[in-house]
Amino acid sequence: MKPTRRTFLKLSATGLATPAILVTIPVLANTPKRGKQITGVNRMQVGNFEVTALLDGALTVNPELIMGYDEDIAAKTLSHQHLPAAPMGQVIPVTGYLVNTGDKLIAIDSGTTDSFVDTLGNYHTSLSNAGVSVDQIDHVIATHLHVDHIGGLTDGKGNAMFPNADLITNQVEWDFWHNDTLRSQSSDMEKSFFDIALTQTAPYNDRITIVKQNTEIVPGVELVPLPGHTPGHMGVHLRSNGDELLIWGDIIHTTKLQFANPDWTIAFDIDQDMARKTRARLLDQVATDRVKVAGMHLDFPGFGHVTRSGGQYHFEPTAWDYNI
Ligand SMILES: [Zn+2]
Repeated sequence: MKPTRRTFLKLSATGLATPAILVTIPVLANTPKRGKQITGVNRMQVGNFEVTALLDGALTVNPELIMGYDEDIAAKTLSHQHLPAAPMGQVIPVTGYLVNTGDKLIAIDSGTTDSFVDTLGNYHTSLSNAGVSVDQIDHVIATHLHVDHIGGLTDGKGNAMFPNADLITNQVEWDFWHNDTLRSQSSDMEKSFFDIALTQTAPYNDRITIVKQNTEIVPGVELVPLPGHTPGHMGVHLRSNGDELLIWGDIIHTTKLQFANPDWTIAFDIDQDMARKTRARLLDQVATDRVKVAGMHLDFPGFGHVTRSGGQYHFEPTAWDYNI
C-alpha cells in the first residue's frame, strides 16, 4: 500500500508509525519543473489588423560582437533596469511577425532553422500554436536575407515551407546577395552568409516579388528602407484605421543595452556607420511621433514604445492585449 496522508494518520493513531516518519513520507506529489517556457505567441490589434509575434527562440550575443561596448557603461545601463551585469553577453530573442489585414495573411520574416543554434528554430511551432497553417499565408516579406530572418522559409532540404506564398524582398537586398564579385572578395564566414541567402530563397525563385522600397504591398502595409544592417534592410510600416505599428527589423539587437547606447552596433551590421545613422534617425522619429514599434530582436513579447528622458532613449513594452 502506498502511504497517503490519510492512511498515515490512521497508522499514527494505532501507534504503528512515529511522528518522526511523518516528516519523511512523501504525502504530496512532486511536480517536476518544466525548465523552459511554452512557445511564445503574442497577439495585438493594430487598427483593423491583427498582428501576431511568433517567437523562434533566443541566442546569446557575446560582448565581443557589440562594437563600442564598454563593460562599465553596460553594467551601469543594466543596473538602471534592476539587472545584474552580464559580462558573458546578452540573451536576445528571434521573432517573426504575422499580419492579418482581414484580406491577406502576411508573414514578416520566418525565424531560423533548428540546425543554426539549438535554442532557436521554433518559428513553425509558434505559427502552428497561433492557429495558422503555412498554406494560408499569402505573402512572406523578408526584412533582409540573414539566416535568422529567412531560416524558416525552407525545411532545410531545399523545399519551400510556404506552399502558396510569394517571397517579397527588395532590389537592393537581392542584388547585394547575388553579387558574385562581392562574394568572392569576402571572408569564409561572410561567404556562408551569401550562400545561405541564395539557398534559402532558391525554392521561391519562381514566385519571388522584388520591389522598390517604399512600396505599399497591400493597403496599409508599406515597406520602408532602413539601410545599414544590410544594404537593403527594411522595415514594414502598418497603418490601419488611425492606428500604426512600425516593424523595424534589426534596428535594435540588444534591448537592454542599445536604447541607452544607440551608438553601439552589432558585428553583423554590414555598414556600421549607416546602421548607426539609421538607428539614430529612427529612434528620434518614433520617440517624437510616439509610433508603436516591433522588432525581430526586441525583448519578447516584442511590441512597445520608445521614450526619451534624461538624454537617453528607453523601451516601454506594450502590455498583453486582453481584449483582442
Ligand atoms: Zn537578425
